[in-house]
Parts: sequence; structure tokens; C-alpha cells
Amino acid sequence: MNCAEFWNQMPELASGANPEHNHAAECPACAALLERQRRLASGLRTMAGDMRSVGAPPRLESNLLEAFRSQLAPAAPRPMRARWTPVFSWAAAVAAVIA
Ligand SMILES: [Zn+2]
Repeated sequence: MNCAEFWNQMPELASGANPEHNHAAECPACAALLERQRRLASGLRTMAGDMRSVGAPPRLESNLLEAFRSQLAPAAPRPMRARWTPVFSWAAAVAAVIA
């Protein structure tokens, strides 16, 4: 297995006990990068846990939504995919950090 094949399997999402991820044991560069990604994910999970008790006031959320909606251009409807792709991307990123 080469480096590209290793990363195509998304080893950063694996538990670490998968024998198919032995490439990291043989490749110091990938092992270092994988360890860095795991430390980053751990730090983000810790930060997400710390931030659970912190929330913006409801009034701020409504003001932000109102400002966001006022910036939308109502003239030309955009394709549904173009509108939702950024939302889904951010939701997936937040879900990955929290999970
Ligand atoms: Zn490698």
C-alpha cells in the first residue's frame, strides 16, 4: 500500500486497531501526519465539549438570521444544490467534530 492508497481509506476516521492501516507503521511521514490529525481531532472534541455550555442569546441568533436573509438576492433563484451544499458541508464538519 502506498501513501495515496492509505489516505484514500481515511485512516483518520478509523479506530486505530484496523490491520489494513499498517502503512502508518511502515511510513514515518504518514504516521506523523496521522498522529497530528488525531491530536487535532481530540483537541477539537475537547473544545466542542467546553463550548456546549456557551451559547449566544436568542436575540442574537434572530438578528443574525434576519441580517442573513436580508442579504439574499431574491431576483434569481439559485439551484437547490448550490444553496444547500455549504450548509451540508458545515453541518457535516460540525457533526464530525462533535461525534
Ligand atoms: Zn505513507
